[in-house]
Amino acid sequence: MRCPHCSSLQDKVIESRQNPSGTSIRRRRECLSCGYRYTSYERIEEKALKVIKRDGRREPFDLEKLERGLQKSLEKRSISQAVIDQIISETEDFAIMKAGNKREVSSRELGEKILSLLYEIDPIAYVRFASVYRMFEDIDQFIAEIEKLSHNR
Ligand SMILES: [Zn+2]
Repeated sequence: MRCPHCSSLQDKVIESRQNPSGTSIRRRRECLSCGYRYTSYERIEEKALKVIKRDGRREPFDLEKLERGLQKSLEKRSISQAVIDQIISETEDFAIMKAGNKREVSSRELGEKILSLLYEIDPIAYVRFASVYRMFEDIDQFIAEIEKLSHNR
């Protein structure tokens, strides 16, 4: 896979992990040219989940976007990558269960699920995440705002 940092195509897989429901595999990769570490996800395409936004639009359920948003919003807290992995994995399982045969889950439900997971893991991170998240209508809008902030920095 192409390194997002230096565009080299040479990488090695450091770790592979399947989510508990067995519907996706997450791989941590390291670029052999520059050492940058990144994540790829593999899942069954025909089962792609959709997220229903507040305004009724549907978007693909994007775990990578979710992970970036979590990392950025929690970067000042000492939350390990393993914990973020756990949140992502449990959020995905929740989404699959919630979506059922319709393959759709609301953005609001996802946001509230992430909040409840954070609350158990790190109450301070929860407060921080919640205080920002609740200013927005849904998790996608929240992540979009965080990404905008980090681009302007
Ligand atoms: Zn690289």
